[in-house]
Amino acid sequence: MKQAKSLWLILLFFSSIHASDQDNNSPIIILKNVTILDMISDSGKKGSIFIKGQSIQKIIYENEKVYPLNAIIYDLTGKFIMPGLIDNHVHITHGSLKQSQDQLEIALLNGITGVRDMGGDGRMLALLKRNTQIGEYMGSDVFFSTIIAGNKFFINDPRPAQVALGAQAGNVSWQWAIDENTNFDEVVLQAKGIGSSAIKMYTDVNKKMMNNVSKSAKKYGLKVWAHASIAPTRPSDVTAAGVDVMSHAGDFLQYELANEIKDRYAFKSKKDAAAYKNEINNIPFSKENEKIKSLLSDMKNNNSYLDATLWIYKGRNEGNDLQRAQKATKLAYDNGVKIAAGSDNIMNQENNEINLHNELVLLVEAGLSNIDTLRAATINNAVGLGEEKKIGSIEVGKLANLIILNSDPLKKISNTRDIQYVLKRGKVYQGINSMQ
Ligand SMILES: [Zn+2]
Repeated sequence: MKQAKSLWLILLFFSSIHASDQDNNSPIIILKNVTILDMISDSGKKGSIFIKGQSIQKIIYENEKVYPLNAIIYDLTGKFIMPGLIDNHVHITHGSLKQSQDQLEIALLNGITGVRDMGGDGRMLALLKRNTQIGEYMGSDVFFSTIIAGNKFFINDPRPAQVALGAQAGNVSWQWAIDENTNFDEVVLQAKGIGSSAIKMYTDVNKKMMNNVSKSAKKYGLKVWAHASIAPTRPSDVTAAGVDVMSHAGDFLQYELANEIKDRYAFKSKKDAAAYKNEINNIPFSKENEKIKSLLSDMKNNNSYLDATLWIYKGRNEGNDLQRAQKATKLAYDNGVKIAAGSDNIMNQENNEINLHNELVLLVEAGLSNIDTLRAATINNAVGLGEEKKIGSIEVGKLANLIILNSDPLKKISNTRDIQYVLKRGKVYQGINSMQ
């Protein structure tokens, strides 16, 4: 009897090992006869993808007749498969936890398997990250940053306090007021501790502070994200500091040419701040300008990606903001700078429209090829997150984060809306098709 009991314990031990290793017990899913847009090659190729657990196990390009017993097979003849889209610029913690969950669920079903949050409540983001990762609830995977800025930001701007409720804004592990004496290793290690992927530098950060924080971030394996221009530092110094992703195409070339870079807190009234911003936006720029050429060549060489966020300029088009942002994006693209696709506004609250699909249309309109636009929303964003070994392309060993489309996005970019299924970490969901 005693022996039987210990045998039972041994069995329990082994079965618990297997239970924790989902990948071993889960059936193989086969997506067969589908045109694969893997993001490595410029064109699609017909084949079949085998998924085991959370990951892509095998990709074959010839017709296989024999499939494993118990495999779940989807015949996807006539359909297209690409990596899940990543929205490179969102802010998802400005409402309740429930609202954030709902947004992530709708985003996932619209093909967004990952989002990069650019500044929010780290406590909520850490929870969302965990729960979407383990499937506690349905939603895009979440990657987020710890925001740092000079003291001015925390004193003058109401937003940091909104995402630090109950604590002191600028003095928490997801939000730091910094100066030249800050211990940047501590900032980075605390950021890492709560699950941040990066340090986001916001405003009132000079060149010296920027270089120091960047050095600490790289030392401990975090990425560095920033606006392309951070007062008082110009874009050429932002890229020189090793910033991995630089946001907003609408004004970065103008800031490079401006005499002086001021932030919004430098003005007595909103009107004065708006007048200055308008002056900046209207600085003419062209590809012949030496400063522009040198900035773009530095961004290319330093691997600083441009997070264009064209969609935000669409609504505020008084001064041709969108056209200018598109022109700047095309100049960067033509000079070899990698473009990253982000909406800066995950969805339209009134109709649940997912804005990344709109962003892709604007990138093609700006002059990017369809394949590079898809790369901007997949592999380029994976690199910006530091997750390119796991996501962003269709390759053996990567997570099965995939979308299955009824029509070819290489023919027409808005076909990214023509969704049949979405897979995240090997789980299959019926997607939301938002083709008009
Ligand atoms: Zn933003």
